[in-house]
Amino acid sequence: MRILFVASECAPFSKVGGLGDVVGSLPKALKAQGHDVRVLTPRYGFIPGHMFELHSAPLGVPLGHGEIWCGILESRLPDSDVPVYFLRNDEHFGGTDVYLGWGGDLFGLARFALLSRAGFQLSRSLNWIPDIIHLHDWPTAPAAIMLNTVERFAPFDRTASVFTIHNMAHQPRFPKEGIEVMQVGWSEYKPDGLEDFGELNPFKAGLYHANMLTTVSPRYAWEIRTPEGGAGLSHVVEFRAADLVGILNGIDEDVWNPETDRYLPAHFDAHDLSGKARCKTALQKELGLQVRPSVPLIGVISRWTAQKGTDIIASALDRLLELDVQIVMLGSGDPQLEAHLRHRSRFGGGSFCAWVGYNEPLAHRVEAASDLFLMPSRFEPCGLNQLYSQRYGTLPIVRSTGGLDDTVEQCQPLTGAGTGFKLYHLSPDSLVDTVAWAVSVYRDKPDLFRAMQVRAMKKRQGWSVAAKAYLDVYDWALQRKRA
Ligand code: ADP
Repeated sequence: MRILFVASECAPFSKVGGLGDVVGSLPKALKAQGHDVRVLTPRYGFIPGHMFELHSAPLGVPLGHGEIWCGILESRLPDSDVPVYFLRNDEHFGGTDVYLGWGGDLFGLARFALLSRAGFQLSRSLNWIPDIIHLHDWPTAPAAIMLNTVERFAPFDRTASVFTIHNMAHQPRFPKEGIEVMQVGWSEYKPDGLEDFGELNPFKAGLYHANMLTTVSPRYAWEIRTPEGGAGLSHVVEFRAADLVGILNGIDEDVWNPETDRYLPAHFDAHDLSGKARCKTALQKELGLQVRPSVPLIGVISRWTAQKGTDIIASALDRLLELDVQIVMLGSGDPQLEAHLRHRSRFGGGSFCAWVGYNEPLAHRVEAASDLFLMPSRFEPCGLNQLYSQRYGTLPIVRSTGGLDDTVEQCQPLTGAGTGFKLYHLSPDSLVDTVAWAVSVYRDKPDLFRAMQVRAMKKRQGWSVAAKAYLDVYDWALQRKRA
């Protein structure tokens, strides 16, 4: 099968969150199962020039009332022969940001309408017509509409679209004149298309137009059908429920591997955790924490937003530290939370450190060094850090929502089962109670804690299972399109 991913992020070249991880990993797993997979993504200004070479002659991409000329650069996903094509147009993508604010102006729409349409033009120029175009969240949703309108004829008349929902909450709106930017025709300005309360909502149109929909966990697939989880579009998801499949994200087990991780000062596996203890001491020294091997070290890595429950952690912080634990928070986001946590870190007394910013090597060291990992999200489509932490024997404490609920097994003191600790109601009180429970298992029931670590580390979390599920979805999309 020929599969073209069109996406606004592709790790390691560009990544804002889990979407980038998926686009950087799933194609490799599909390729490993014998399929011809390629990726199209923007060449942002921050991607170093040495990462690719010039591919072909310039590409003319229809947009608005004319055509935009773009360059195509080419590289591969690391350790694979999956081609990645970069759409180069400095006016649209030359800056340092992947996303520009929250909708509003037409330029924000034009950038990704350009990327979406370029998927078709690139396929033509390569003379490589995909069976499936796989689209990700609102930025490339326009390609699903284009496939049903301006691009519905040969050579794309047998191409089907799959739209993956990474986060329902990310729904920028644009002025209705954006219809002309996208060239899809005013007939698409309708409630079961692009129109949403007088504006354009590409996400909504993606839900209506794609042949199949997926999202990144079974539980989230259910949650987005409810008013609480559907972010204003639960009725549309409900309408398409028969075409929606929840598939858990995998992790790149080569990159997130405690036996080989190149960012760690020591390595370890499920049978021998002595390297993990060395990682803990090294991190305590690196971040100016007291070097205490037996204190429970709790890691947090996330965007600091309401979605991730960072405000709840901040308001519970003093009570958490009274449990005699150490807490390391890596992330950035809400300026008020940043200022508060930075200030708190300055007076952390060797038991609290907030590292503000994005730091991939440090993220690996925090995952490896911590005993527990905190992720009290309000909602979480899938979540990756709780998967990484289980692989590193760092037991996650999570809110039972979305993918967190699907991927973490609750601690069972009587049977010795479980891979983490779940709280159901999100409040500072229940967070403190659940952390206190986890800490008591760490201190008072080391055998249970150890058994949970082994169970977590041995879980199979690679992409091969997900890839098989996606291949089924691609088949169903083709059946719907070609029926
Ligand atoms: P989301 O996509 O909602 O941000 P996920 O858990 O799905 O959340 O994915 C977040 C990804 O970004 C993970 O790979 C995580 O390790 C990484 N990440 C988030 N914040 C940071 C940070 N400050 N430094 C390094 N990596 C980070």
